[in-house]
Amino acid sequence: MAKMTVEDLKDLKGKKVLVRVDFNVPLDEKLEITDDTRIKAALPTIRYLVGQGCKVVLMSHLGRPKGEVKDEMRLTPCAKRLSELLGKEVKKTNDCVGPEVQKAVADMKDGDVILLENVRFHKEETKNDPEFSRQLASLGDIYVDDAFGSAHRAHASTEGVTKYLKGYAGFLLRKEIEYLSRVIENPEKPFVAILGGAKVSGKIDVIKNLLPRVDTLIIGGGMAYTFFKARNVSVGNSLVEEDKIPVAKEVLKEAIDLNKTIMLPIDHIVVKEFAADAESKLVTRAGIPDGWQAVDIGPDTITKFGHAIKKAKTIFWNGPMGVFEFPKFARGTDEVAKLVAQATQDGATSIIGGGDSVAAIKKAGLDDKISHISTGGGASLEMVEGKILPGIACLQEK
Ligand code: AMP
Repeated sequence: MAKMTVEDLKDLKGKKVLVRVDFNVPLDEKLEITDDTRIKAALPTIRYLVGQGCKVVLMSHLGRPKGEVKDEMRLTPCAKRLSELLGKEVKKTNDCVGPEVQKAVADMKDGDVILLENVRFHKEETKNDPEFSRQLASLGDIYVDDAFGSAHRAHASTEGVTKYLKGYAGFLLRKEIEYLSRVIENPEKPFVAILGGAKVSGKIDVIKNLLPRVDTLIIGGGMAYTFFKARNVSVGNSLVEEDKIPVAKEVLKEAIDLNKTIMLPIDHIVVKEFAADAESKLVTRAGIPDGWQAVDIGPDTITKFGHAIKKAKTIFWNGPMGVFEFPKFARGTDEVAKLVAQATQDGATSIIGGGDSVAAIKKAGLDDKISHISTGGGASLEMVEGKILPGIACLQEK
């Protein structure tokens, strides 16, 4: 799935380059950005294009305005932050299409950067409307996609525009494709996948696609208890998706057929009441007593998972090992974060696929010790499920 990138383009000077970025950043009530990771992640592409003397026209979505103009979802704070990071003016338009935007783009000088207003203020964006796509495409000579977090959606600004302009990958998109395809195409062995989080349902396709490829599949967090139930082990009040028990049984059987190891927790931190300060105890034998619910993995499980993680040459991790939002029950997730960071220092390639595990690794201050932290939760899972993402499929092949 190698795609042509901005580096494959020649004679860029003076060209208008329409770039889809993912500036879907969290904002607080004062509309200040609380985490600018996504803006920083787009800098290499923007800087490269500015350096080549392009006119850089950026577009992004923010939140879910559902086709209406919502002042709290304007991209103004992103333009301000980008301007600080680039050390140059970034003009922001009040819309993403229309005469004002066309004039602003026509007035650009080489090396200028403009950020268009939230594309989702138009309902045509998520409908992948051809006329809206054409209007966006009219703002550039070339299209560059650097919005991995939106690559699993066929929207006007991610896929529709490529019906009118040739599309190329930015540096962030290239990095995401390189690392995530390594997970499914050619992982260096031993390959250990660590899956956690609340639900089996959200990750069953990931499990099915990864099982033949891994050496060990570690399952922690709430989703482990559907697997225990599938083995007729009592789970007390722990999270179980009854309708997923048959598929959990299938996965356990397939692991035996394929001679793969599935590791489940061997001890559990359990509570009677689901609360941050709930009294807890450690259950070390099989089976969780009635009335109790597992909220974290126990110390012996951490040690056991650690043995597999230490030996790994490729690690993919998605989903926390417990209810890590409550500090008391974050230990399992924190310790796994440390183990993955250490394995990376020792030479493994580690890939963290979006969502809560990214929050966990950042909280532990270990994000710079991971080979690749994906900027797209949903998109990274879909890639690992083996799906072809529409926002990637539409770009020019190498
Ligand atoms: P997901 O979005 O499926 O990755 O799930 C993330 C959520 O799983 C987090 O909010 C965790 O609090 C939750 N979680 C992890 N382990 C457990 C558990 N043992 N019981 C209930 N929720 C859990």
